[in-house]
Amino acid sequence: TLVALPPTVRDVFDTVVTRNPHEPEFQQAVHEVLFSIAPVLDAHPQFVDGGILERIVEPERQIMFRVPWIDDSGRLRVNRGFRVQFSSVLGPYKGGLRFHPSVNLSIIKFLGFEQVFKNALTGQGIGGAKGGSDFDPHGRSDAEIMRFCQAFMSELYRHLGEHTDVPAGDIGVGAREIGYLFGQYRKITNRHESGMFTGKGVQWGGAEVRTEATGYGAVFFAQEMLGVRGDSLDGKRVAVSGSGNVAIYAIDKAYQMGATPVTASDSSGYIVDDAGIDLGALRQVKEIDRERIHAYTAHRPHARFIAGRRPWEVPVDIAIPAATQNELDEPDAHALIAGGVRAVAEGANMPSTPGAVAAFQRAGVLFGPGKAANAGGVATSALEMSQNASRQRWSFADSERKLQAIMKGVHDSAFEAAKRYGHEGDYVVGANSAGFERVAHAMLAQGV
Ligand code: GLU
Repeated sequence: TLVALPPTVRDVFDTVVTRNPHEPEFQQAVHEVLFSIAPVLDAHPQFVDGGILERIVEPERQIMFRVPWIDDSGRLRVNRGFRVQFSSVLGPYKGGLRFHPSVNLSIIKFLGFEQVFKNALTGQGIGGAKGGSDFDPHGRSDAEIMRFCQAFMSELYRHLGEHTDVPAGDIGVGAREIGYLFGQYRKITNRHESGMFTGKGVQWGGAEVRTEATGYGAVFFAQEMLGVRGDSLDGKRVAVSGSGNVAIYAIDKAYQMGATPVTASDSSGYIVDDAGIDLGALRQVKEIDRERIHAYTAHRPHARFIAGRRPWEVPVDIAIPAATQNELDEPDAHALIAGGVRAVAEGANMPSTPGAVAAFQRAGVLFGPGKAANAGGVATSALEMSQNASRQRWSFADSERKLQAIMKGVHDSAFEAAKRYGHEGDYVVGANSAGFERVAHAMLAQGV
């Protein structure tokens, strides 16, 4: 497949592989974007001549740091911290922090790279970044979480700021962690600088709907894709993976749209509840008890727990992968297709492998890639930054209306770009092209 592509793209990709040899996720994300934008490059030779490709695959700045902290038994622990500031051409660096044992430079770079195009697609003034640590929050006491967050911010604060770099949450970083991180920044800098972090508590500068935004947005995106075919979510069965913030609010919004979400999962396996997931029970298990997903069956005895498997073998109309990268592979895609799936909206970042994406597209399944379908989270972060800058607070209803309008905009930009470049209905080409175009034009305008 490499041979059929423009040599410039191949050369740039080869350099990425040579320069970043042990970074499979980063290579995967770069490959997907570079190899889908050929029509954009044909139409805009100035992008190639202006060196956009060579520049866009190299982060503006990468920060790696030691995070030493003391656990409850008094023992010294050392984790590694990351912040990859990928692009600031459209606005301050913007993107979440992930705390998970799998975190390494490859994962953070792939996420930062995706974030650049996602953020561009929202139409807001935000650049792209990602950060995090290989710290495992699982089983840690509240005091340990606080000490870790303080140690992490004691180094990272010098690289942040409302006009410089604005983090938010991601896997393992929710309201509690954001509170401790923000508190440490405030103490070190002596500034209550609301706009330096998003996802804050609504009582201290946070925005309504930010918590719900990624999950809600993914469902809005699915509804938009279905709408193009004169279809809707009403009466559909939905498989959701994950059981964090994105999954929970995707389930919530799917119900509001008249659908029945029947699955949720974590790394131990998945639950299937044919009567529809009981959101109260799921939240009790995951958010309050912080238990593994099988505990759900204690609340709903008719539900089944399937250990060590993923929910894609359950026949559904709609799939919303909302757990993590590469959680849905080609055999999973074939299982979903055999079960009659019509649309896939990615709530997580890059949850479908390239083989899975190709299988969905060959089968004519509507496929909304994460950088479009899950853009509602970061888009609402941009709304939070606006409210912080103007010292306003918008209502829940007003904020949700804005989110819905932004998701329609993201959908329409991706749809239109795909059509313009002769790939109607291909949201991968559409999202990558529309995001890339905006970033590339800004890079050319601002010079080397
Ligand atoms: N972590 C989220 C994402 O993947 C949100 C980032 C943000 O709000 O800055 O887009």
